[in-house]
Order: sequence, then C-alpha cells, then structure tokens
Amino acid sequence: MDNLSNIGIIKDLLDRYGFKFSKSLGQNFLINPSVCPRIAEMGNAKAGFGIIEIGTGIGVLTNELAKRADKVCAIEIDSRLMPVLAETLGEYDNIKIINDDVLKVDIKKLIDDEFKGLEVAVCANLPYYITSPIIMYLLEQRLPIRSVTVLVQKEAAERLCAELGTREAGAVTVAVRYFSEPKILFNVSRGSFMPAPNVDSCAVRFDIKQTTPQGVSDEAFFFKTVRAAFSQRRKTLVNSVSSGLGADKSAVSAAAEKASLPASIRPEQLTMEQFIAFSERLREAL
Ligand code: SAM
Repeated sequence: MDNLSNIGIIKDLLDRYGFKFSKSLGQNFLINPSVCPRIAEMGNAKAGFGIIEIGTGIGVLTNELAKRADKVCAIEIDSRLMPVLAETLGEYDNIKIINDDVLKVDIKKLIDDEFKGLEVAVCANLPYYITSPIIMYLLEQRLPIRSVTVLVQKEAAERLCAELGTREAGAVTVAVRYFSEPKILFNVSRGSFMPAPNVDSCAVRFDIKQTTPQGVSDEAFFFKTVRAAFSQRRKTLVNSVSSGLGADKSAVSAAAEKASLPASIRPEQLTMEQFIAFSERLREAL
C-alpha cells in the first residue's frame, strides 16, 4: 500500500485495528513522505541487495525498501502490528516479517538463510530507546553487510558520528569508527513523526570497512575496555577502567603509562590508536 505516511490513512488503519502508540517501544511513525524514499535510496536499497529493516511500524519504510531491493527481512517486536502489516504490505512477495526483538535475532543466520547471492544492507528508523545497543549489536558481530543507514535522534547522531578525542565521543563512537566510516546524511524535523518527539532527528549511514584498525589482539577485550572507560564519563580513564573491569588500579595505571598516556586523561580524549595501545598494555598486565 502506498501513502503510508499520509496522516488520514495512518489514523484510519490504527483506528480499525484499535492500535495505540507505545512510548516505551519508541513508536514515532514517519508522516513526511519525502523521508523514506531518501533513506531507501541512500541506504543501498537497489537491485542485487537484500535489506534488513528494524522496526517496521505500519510499514512506511518497508514499502519503499521492497520497491527497490530484491528482498526485505523486517524485524518488528510489536505483535499488535502483524495484522496491520499483512494489510499494508500484502501486495509484496519479497518481504519477510519477523515478529521478534532485534537483539534476540541471530542476524548472521538470517543473512545466510534469506539473502543467498545478494549483498546486504540495514535500513531503519530506529526506536530511540535502544539506538546504541542496536548499532553495537550490528557492528560487533562483523556481519557481511555493506552499510547501516538509520534515522536516529539528533543527539544520538552527533555521538555516533563524533570524531574520537572530542567531548561528544562515547563507547558507541569507538565501535562506529572501528568498524565503519560514518556519515551524516540529512536532518529530519520532529514534525515529520506521529506522535512528534521532543527533538529533531538525523539520517546517518555507516559504510562498513573492509579492514579494521591494526593492532587489536583480542577484540572482545578491546570493547570491554572501551565500555568500562566510558561507564563513568566524569572520571579519569584509569579510575573508570579499574572500577568498570574490577581491576587493580596500579595495574591499570601502569598500562596507561606504558601506552604513554598522562594519568589525568579522560576517556573522551583518547584517539583510536591510544585506545588500542592502552587496551593491549592492559591485556598484558591483567
Ligand atoms: N519504521 C516505522 C516508521 O518509520 O514509521 C516505525 C519506526 S518507530 C521509530 C520504531 C519501531 O521499532 C516501532 O515500530 C517499534 O515497535 C519497533 N521496535 C521497538 N523496539 C524494538 C526491538 N527491540 N526490536 C524490533 N523492533 C522494535
């Protein structure tokens, strides 16, 4: 069904199915008709591609993806939307809807089973309450995907696309920069959604790197260290890592010194190379 961003059509659908928006599931549906075609086009939805969508709502983006890509697998947690989607997307034979929590779906298996012979990309208007966990989940698994294109709240976009060594950087920024080249695509005003959230949004794309930074001997340990480093942002690197990992402070301090980092350095001040040097020295010490 076209016109899924039309307020009248959305209200009619939601009334007929007795659907009420769930704030806790981050349900802000797109009502600006120009947004989904742009996400689909900039997000690699085209011939030869299979697309994974996260959070279908009533299928406004799913519809645009299915028009352009060979196949779409869309993951939606809210079972109340299943009958709605059967109506709005019923005309397509290249869409598979998976009624589950994206963080519980084995995405590698999904790609193997559903996208044989296709390149794969992810496109989504993400639920804001789990933006970072979803991005980390997708990136850290080293999935065979070309890109992840998502609409997220502006503040999240700034963190996701920040340069390392700046105040906006967080653990997710390190994961994004480690695995991908991030790019801000375009802004989307809060009035483009129903119900309207309190902040504007931004479309961003992560182009997955073929080769990740050199020098990490244990990726799981590296990301554990990064998460611990940002777990208490106001503390110094040494304090937050020693409390986050439950590690002896003098060993963490010695690792920082061997990595040529000053004792007072804070996690958001480190570059990728410094994070790698520090986690390698720490791994040797623990
Ligand atoms: N794509 C639709 C649109 O643009 O109008 C809906 C986007 S809405 C911001 C986010 C969607 O993600 C909702 O439909 C919500 O039910 C779904 N969702 C929330 N948490 C989820 C999870 N853990 N796994 C899968 N879907 C989820």
